[in-house]
Amino acid sequence: MEPDELLHELEESGLRGRGGAGFAMGKKASFLPKGSMDKYLCCNADESEPGAFKDRLLLQRNPHQLVEGILIGAAAAGANRAFIYIRGEYELQAEILDRAIREAYDKGYVGERILGSEHSISLVLHRGAGAYICGEETALPDSLEGKRGNPRLKPPFPANAGLYQGPTLINNVETLCNVPAIIENGAEWFKSVGTEKSTGTKIVSVSGNVRRPGNYEIELGMPSRDIVYGLAGGPPEGRRVKCWFPGGSSAPVLVEKDLDLSYDFETMAEAGSMLGSGSIIVVDDSQSIVSLALRLAEFYRHESCGKCTPCREGTNWTVKMLERVESGEATPADLDVMADVQTNIIGNCLCVLGDSMAMPVGSMIEKFRDEFEEHIEQARRRNGGLPLAAHGGRADEAVGSTAA
Ligand code: SF4
Repeated sequence: MEPDELLHELEESGLRGRGGAGFAMGKKASFLPKGSMDKYLCCNADESEPGAFKDRLLLQRNPHQLVEGILIGAAAAGANRAFIYIRGEYELQAEILDRAIREAYDKGYVGERILGSEHSISLVLHRGAGAYICGEETALPDSLEGKRGNPRLKPPFPANAGLYQGPTLINNVETLCNVPAIIENGAEWFKSVGTEKSTGTKIVSVSGNVRRPGNYEIELGMPSRDIVYGLAGGPPEGRRVKCWFPGGSSAPVLVEKDLDLSYDFETMAEAGSMLGSGSIIVVDDSQSIVSLALRLAEFYRHESCGKCTPCREGTNWTVKMLERVESGEATPADLDVMADVQTNIIGNCLCVLGDSMAMPVGSMIEKFRDEFEEHIEQARRRNGGLPLAAHGGRADEAVGSTAA
């Protein structure tokens, strides 16, 4: 098939990125300019989102499917140099992938003039060093170039100036693993499952308080309840779902009744969250929402690259405020300040990491405000303090004490 035919088939299939953003893969590939310059395809295998472990399975069990997807994707986009950026912790998967790449070279599927055609491509496996931010689509090229993995200002977007400032297509492992089957069976075949705008199947990583955690390949549009209860077995005996992350730790939490929604990109967005990488984390009613929010904020504070102020300062502030809530030093006014901080982070950062903390934490404060207040009250009483009703809990006190 000619590159244009491949591109057409991918666009027609409606395949959306499986890494988090959900952008149409074919459209993204079509953004690369035409011409004879070096063009790059980077496979993002830096699976670092808490709750996500689907790419690990694909890399480990079916590396040739990924290599084939990269070769077809690169041909469609006109890329002649491909890289796989794999997270440092995936040592076993890197070994397996390395062997698969060498086998593909030996068979002549990768290299110069593939199978006698005019098409040539190099494929290099590169291991990261364990930073969450290097999975961000502009930090990844920086890291690949040997620099500190910091997100870049956009525009320009990677399609025009990505790796080595050349046109670059960046796709997730699962996205590329869908490509061979789409080209073999056709776009119509792929579209025959899923919903109108969320076509195909999706591997969902289900973890947290469920009886059968694991990876499940589902048809997009399946009721969320069937995934959490039907496939993953639901929470342990006697427990109920308190909340769940539909798309990894960076997704705003949904509550029990939202399990009735269908699991697809549009429905999750309409519910105020996102499907993201398709990683469902279930939290049952034995868990403290305050501890959960604190643990999550600590993770993002640690992983913030520190380049922009709202994320660097906002994640730190949020951790400090949640520590005050946890210890009972906070007042309900702190919750207002904390919610306000989250609102000010969202949409004001250089990359999505700041939002990745602010969205779930903000959603927890909004949906579980009573539990936050109750936690403060109980911790305060345990510490021998006055009940808040007697204390007053003024907003100025909260801001002043947090800043201090
Ligand atoms: Fe770095 Fe956070 Fe800013 Fe992203 S949002 S560039 S991780 S400081």
